[in-house]
Amino acid sequence: MSTVQLTLPTGRKVNQPTGLFIDNKFVPSVSGKTHETINPTTEEVICSVSVASEADIDIAVASSRKAFNTVWGRNAPASTRVHLLNRLADLLERDAQELAELEALDNGKPLQVALEGDIPDSVDCFRYYAGWADKITGQTIEIDDKGGKTAFTRHEPIGVCGQIIPWNYPIMMLAWKLAPAFAAGCTVVLKPSELTPLTALKICELTVEAGFPPGVLNCVPSLGSVGGAAISSHMDIDKVAFTGSTITGRKIMEAAAKSNLKKVTLELGGKSPHLIFESADLDLAAEHAAGGILGNMGQDCVAGSRLYVQSSIYDKFIAILAKKFKETSSGFGDPFKKETTGGPLVSKVQRDKVADFVKSGVDEGAKIVVGGTEHQGKGWYYYPTILADIRQDMKVVREEIFGPVVVVGKFDTEEEAIKLANDTSYGLGSGLQSNDANQIMRVSSALQAGTVWINQYGVLSNAAPFGGYKQSGIGRELGSYALQEYTIVKTILWDYSGKA
Ligand code: NAD
Repeated sequence: MSTVQLTLPTGRKVNQPTGLFIDNKFVPSVSGKTHETINPTTEEVICSVSVASEADIDIAVASSRKAFNTVWGRNAPASTRVHLLNRLADLLERDAQELAELEALDNGKPLQVALEGDIPDSVDCFRYYAGWADKITGQTIEIDDKGGKTAFTRHEPIGVCGQIIPWNYPIMMLAWKLAPAFAAGCTVVLKPSELTPLTALKICELTVEAGFPPGVLNCVPSLGSVGGAAISSHMDIDKVAFTGSTITGRKIMEAAAKSNLKKVTLELGGKSPHLIFESADLDLAAEHAAGGILGNMGQDCVAGSRLYVQSSIYDKFIAILAKKFKETSSGFGDPFKKETTGGPLVSKVQRDKVADFVKSGVDEGAKIVVGGTEHQGKGWYYYPTILADIRQDMKVVREEIFGPVVVVGKFDTEEEAIKLANDTSYGLGSGLQSNDANQIMRVSSALQAGTVWINQYGVLSNAAPFGGYKQSGIGRELGSYALQEYTIVKTILWDYSGKA
């Protein structure tokens, strides 16, 4: 009863788990409640998945606590964690085609994109952190060697972590969260988005096959306001890690503060500026500007959604950009076709939200250069759209749209460009296209953002930290920095002199 057989558009048959994953088994929720997950391309129900309530979260946390205290954390040799993380990466790689198809079905992203991007990046993420799992070390600190005193630090796993992830990169966000947590020796209660639970449950099966002991990972699909809220306010969760909207991030931090002051890391929204200077190679810059907003149909926290172009090249640049947007639009279609480069948005709510934003932009005086149209027929598509001639006070300039819509304004001087770029409450990504080395150094230093891309946009590395300034988040994911978010430092002071 906790598995359903799905036939995917490719003809592939998949045994899809649909229960909560607790103690390495798929089980129905205590209440018996389920939630339908919907294919955004056909608007049809794929299947129903059990959803956790508070009682299920309690069971999952107890399981993760037991695992932490017995078979994981400091009770498992680091070499075990290295081995299991590598094994999980191998299994993800083995099942890449099936997982990519499921992702395309549940999320709407093109199969080819999942196959060439999301899955290999996630495999690499597990391998990257497998490499770290036996290299987490503290410091030895000289206190008073002659007096027979020393001190050292241990970087211990924080404990049981609640991880709440969104729907835009279901597999990749899972990898970014699980891999450093497991490497550090934490156990995890994972809550995937209610919109895209399928691949997370499939990966739970792989953790069993890899040999992860019961309780190291518990996975509890649930509505955010129920399961997500229960995780954030749980008294026996030591840390919560979240990716999603700033509004939800605020609620999570509040719940953490009001419960047990659990540690919190937040990866939130953005309204990332992308500056195009007159010295840039315009064709290349337009390629990066289009890719920076249209990747994942704009459902990307670092999307380069505010373009500022130097006045001297403004008209010329917009003409090149418009051509690239039209080319990209022509690649939107069935996610299962090989040539498709863009699919539908994840839900009707999301598509309608994007359409409302564009309407508000037009109402406030922005000009549609390309797009602005909804798809007629099945599927929650929204076509790549350029809104030009913006003002800073417009809603489309200030708020995150999370769709394939870029707003474009102009600047005259470098100082003005920096001022416009930083005029936001967010600070996740940013980019600049320029061939003036001194300018690149000046501007990248002045931008208030966790990441600055230069003559590229949106490229990520598992080894390079990722996170936000201002209201785009707290803490860092990826790289060695993420390990600090899953470990806690203990200082041990030792008097070995034997004297009073
Ligand atoms: P969201 O923040 O509501 O959802 C993200 C995750 O948080 C989901 O797993 C959800 O179930 C959970 N959640 C929701 N309410 C919660 C609560 N009160 N306590 C704990 N967890 C909760 O995002 P959404 O509604 O799916 O999308 C809304 C907007 O969020 C989007 O339009 C976009 O602007 C933004 N978003 C950003 C990212 C990102 O990567 N930064 C990802 C998804 C969505």
